[in-house]
Amino acid sequence: MSEPHSHTRIIDGKSVAAGLRADVAREVVEFTSRHGIAPGLAVVLVGEDPASQVYVRNKGRQTQEAGMASFEYKLPADTSEADLLAKVADLNADPTVHGILVQLPLPGHIDARKVIEAIDPAKDVDGFHPINVGRLSAGERALVPCTPAGCVILAKSVAPDLSGIEAVIVGRSNIVGKPLAQLLLRENCTVTIAHSRTHDLPEVVRRADLVAAAVGRPEIVRGDWIKPGAIVIDVGINRVPAAEAGKTRLVGDVAFEEAARVASAITPVPGGVGPMTIACLLQNTLAAAKAIHGDVG
Ligand code: NAP
Repeated sequence: MSEPHSHTRIIDGKSVAAGLRADVAREVVEFTSRHGIAPGLAVVLVGEDPASQVYVRNKGRQTQEAGMASFEYKLPADTSEADLLAKVADLNADPTVHGILVQLPLPGHIDARKVIEAIDPAKDVDGFHPINVGRLSAGERALVPCTPAGCVILAKSVAPDLSGIEAVIVGRSNIVGKPLAQLLLRENCTVTIAHSRTHDLPEVVRRADLVAAAVGRPEIVRGDWIKPGAIVIDVGINRVPAAEAGKTRLVGDVAFEEAARVASAITPVPGGVGPMTIACLLQNTLAAAKAIHGDVG
């Protein structure tokens, strides 16, 4: 297995995320002394999906470590849509709660769209409410989805000014690809969104000074698709069989070894975009609390 070029930067998402959490924790201390209340994040989990349980546990732990109040509601898998909507209404009205996150996916009998739309947009720290989606695309102040926000922070950690560069995003989901396109537009990139119907995807990606892959297909983006010197942000998390029988390992949507030989900077999987998501969630919760309490800036 060959090593990345000596001049290729491996973007350390763990350390960038730790820095962001420390910044948030510092601001939380100031917020709490100013307002006599800590920012509060409520996470609602319906059912017992094992991956969701791990996410929710990590969110709760990191929320507390940042000095915020963490509220966790674990509802049974057969919770009715009406009961979940009632829980959201309670949290909307609760002055100790500044951020509300309903863990997705929800069981099939619950309409996720209805639940997202029931969250007070001022507390919508996932940034999925149509009001926040609209504000983001109108270039207004908004709560922004956490994973794409993390991607931009990582890209700017190696290239603080992204203005004017060609950015190609592979994937057009509502949670990653589309909001990332808006965020990169805000950074004055020239943005292309590619997807499963894109003609000649390798050629489109070759144009990019910045490639972001959010596809969910192991190593679909190959090294010879990458323009020399490009920045590569890999959002994909894919579990594949490992060399050792019966074991698995995580890979991204980018063939890391190949791409690292060509890129100027690249995020690894794991340890790249992944750790940024919760850090950005904490940042959003602080931003929501500040906006609710009338703090400017
Ligand atoms: P998604 O909703 O399934 O969207 C995947 C996108 O990729 C779609 O727009 C799809 O195009 C496109 N696509 C699929 N096959 C393609 C192909 N062969 N060529 C080009 N485009 C193709 O996925 P997502 O929720 O955005 O997640 C993407 C990946 O990121 C997953 O691996 C997920 O686990 C990971 N993820 C990580 C984090 C994190 O790090 N915290 C957070 C969220 C997601 P169409 O629209 O045409 O179908």
